[in-house]
Amino acid sequence: GRLVIAVDGPAAAGKGTLARALADALGLPYLDTGLLYRAVGRRMLDAGLSPHEDAEPAARALQPEDLRRTDLRTPEVDRAASAVASQPAVRTALLQFQRGFGAEHGAVLDGRDIGTVIFPDARVKLFVTASTRSRAERRWKQMRGDAPVDAAGRAAAIDAVEAELLARDAADSARATAPLRPAPDAVEIDSDALDADAVLREALRIVQA
Ligand code: C5P
Repeated sequence: GRLVIAVDGPAAAGKGTLARALADALGLPYLDTGLLYRAVGRRMLDAGLSPHEDAEPAARALQPEDLRRTDLRTPEVDRAASAVASQPAVRTALLQFQRGFGAEHGAVLDGRDIGTVIFPDARVKLFVTASTRSRAERRWKQMRGDAPVDAAGRAAAIDAVEAELLARDAADSARATAPLRPAPDAVEIDSDALDADAVLREALRIVQA
């Protein structure tokens, strides 16, 4: 079969960076599946609906251009994505697209349930982790603008990001359908002590083993 690589893990662990680099290195298409849930959450917010209401129609109406929107990475959309992702009908509506994407030419997909639900037979499954603090620091650095910030302001801002990450991970891990957890045959990569290049080398070593 086609080479499918599943990259799962909690929020801001470095999955996207790794998955994109792996796809480049191996000449495979890349799909950030979190964008699908973000785009569904965005549609709910735009329609004036709570993301806790039935989001299946929004998932079924999803269009490719929804994924190219530039407003999918706000804290509000983080929460909306996690809320719609807890709805089994939303997950079902997004399943065939993800499977089709990988089955056609092979692919690297990153998300929460790629190795457990979307591609349980993926040739390679990686589960990327990192401490909550370093994930919060990474996300804060991505989000912050160029405004100067003192040490106290920095620590407070990172505390707030950390609280949001913990809440989202808790919701993603506790939901009944496709909870966040490593597949039994996934290889864990702890990105705390490794920079992006070292994480990529480790992943390539696993792919080529
Ligand atoms: O990966 P990202 O942080 O962009 O994902 C946003 C949200 O979408 C996650 O918090 C999770 O609730 C949901 N998600 C999911 N399954 C995936 C990818 C994302 O449930 N495969």
